[in-house]
Amino acid sequence: MKKLICLFLAITLALFSAAALAETAPAETMFTPGTYTAEAQGIFSPVKVQITVSGNRITSVIIDPSGETPELGGMAAGKLSAAILQAQTPNVDAISGATITSNAIIQAATEALKAAGADIGALDANRWDKGGEDVPKGEKTVDTEIVIIGAGGAGMTAAIMLHQAGKDFVLLEKMPYAGGNTTKATGGMNAAETHYQKEQGIEDSTALFAADTMKGGHALNDPALVAVMANKSAEAIDWLDTIDASLPKISYSGGASVNRIHAPEDGSGVGGYLVDHFSAKLNELGVEILYNTTATELITDGEGKICGVKAEGEDASYTFNCRAVILATGGFGANEEMYTQYRPDLKGTVTTNAPGATGDGIVMAQALGADLVDIEQIQLHPTVEQTTSILITESVRGDGAILVNQGGVRFTNELLTRDAVSAAELEQEGQYAYIIFDQNLRDHLKAIEKYVKSGITVQADTIEGLAEQLGIDPATLAKTLNDWNGYVKDQRDPDFGRTTGMDADLTAAPYYAIKIAPGIHHTMGGVKINTAAQVINTEGKAIPGLFAAGEVTGGVHGGNRLGGNAVADIVIFGRIAAESALEYIK
Ligand code: ADP
Repeated sequence: MKKLICLFLAITLALFSAAALAETAPAETMFTPGTYTAEAQGIFSPVKVQITVSGNRITSVIIDPSGETPELGGMAAGKLSAAILQAQTPNVDAISGATITSNAIIQAATEALKAAGADIGALDANRWDKGGEDVPKGEKTVDTEIVIIGAGGAGMTAAIMLHQAGKDFVLLEKMPYAGGNTTKATGGMNAAETHYQKEQGIEDSTALFAADTMKGGHALNDPALVAVMANKSAEAIDWLDTIDASLPKISYSGGASVNRIHAPEDGSGVGGYLVDHFSAKLNELGVEILYNTTATELITDGEGKICGVKAEGEDASYTFNCRAVILATGGFGANEEMYTQYRPDLKGTVTTNAPGATGDGIVMAQALGADLVDIEQIQLHPTVEQTTSILITESVRGDGAILVNQGGVRFTNELLTRDAVSAAELEQEGQYAYIIFDQNLRDHLKAIEKYVKSGITVQADTIEGLAEQLGIDPATLAKTLNDWNGYVKDQRDPDFGRTTGMDADLTAAPYYAIKIAPGIHHTMGGVKINTAAQVINTEGKAIPGLFAAGEVTGGVHGGNRLGGNAVADIVIFGRIAAESALEYIK
């Protein structure tokens, strides 16, 4: 793989040194060719930037914003990587709403370029984006066996499998970093009959896992896909053990009949943990991800078999000749035009999704006649801060927070399913609510620190003071809190019948509020696949050589995805897609 990437670069550079560059690029040497890294402090952590330069061009900008909030870090990284490449200088504008992270990226990029010997002032003077100039691009053709499109959870799982099988493949990622929506998964991975469950005395069965999933999905799911997910879940957990990405901690998650959700030992969010461990494994194996490279088209031969992929990279337009493609491009929750096409009622709804979740895989597969299933099934998350799209994790309500409307009163059992709580919010005046919690809850839940540091919380020493800041009648809010604390004491909620998340009352000052409303969270529909992860066309036939896994597909989750099933989906079907592609090219 490494050799293959080196070959790419060699050919690409050779192409650039030819006519196109001679005409348009500055002739003088501006950098010492090579790859340089630097980091600078963002809001929560250092942000790393890796820049590759030729003698007179910045050819690649890869940004790792994984320690920042996925919402802001991902957005800033995606936009600034493109902006720096376009301008050919690190002095680009910060992204509004993500200024601190942007400045960290810009500072790290500047340091990396200085290390490459750049005179930053001269780069500014030569800005490429002034006067509408475009950085010249080469054309490049690469032969490989399999192309994986998308380096989220499903794509990275498939990549590790293909490497373990010793196959030649290419892994494309359109963003300057890996992880996609997978990074945002906080809970864990559902799996049944695992060795961890057995060791912990938990009785479960794959049949029960499948039945819970069907029930949670309002029986709209494809039962064959659900059965495969359940039956192959324990071996997927075993496989994660073998690649040092174990999920040993088991707990309860909504919609499950028994404790089934498997999470990292250290209590970290499952998505970030898996992306970190998958990336480390790929690195150790010498698999390089081709970042900032967007697949645009799937190519078929005269018989309709997959034979290639077209992609736009930072420095070249690529044609990959291959025998099979694994689509792992994720969902379309970040593409408003696309989700409103299927769900006009969601127009204007904010999204919690990573910026790469634009449905490209669905569109590319459709162009080859792929069938779609449940495409209008989109899950809303009820607690999303609307100006930043920061998702307020369910644990805040699970640990005791309540929701009130602008009138200062509760309006729902806060721990009903996501769809039900979202629907209740949309019935309130202004279609928003406030999530209210206290210092005790802040002390016990790590996630709150990010919300406070991001500037989205309002706080006051008294309930009345909080109410005033929110424009709520102070006496009404004080009564709501007082009533609630009584319900917690009695362990009975006569208003809305809430029975969970009632272990602690809300009596420790200061008090906090975040204004929230529903946000697009997960697109449950997508391309139709069979149990071998082959993409199925509108005539019910498999498209030869085309496989898909993860959020790009439909059928696994039906009308409602249970927490813990997105990660199960990507690992289990990521593995199946790789196995099927290997079998196909044999
Ligand atoms: P899943 O959970 O199914 O793995 P993710 O959202 O985690 O989905 O990952 C999908 C990845 O695919 C994201 O990193 C996204 O940026 C990437 N991606 C989406 N479209 C393309 C494309 N056209 N070319 C390359 N990568 C893509």
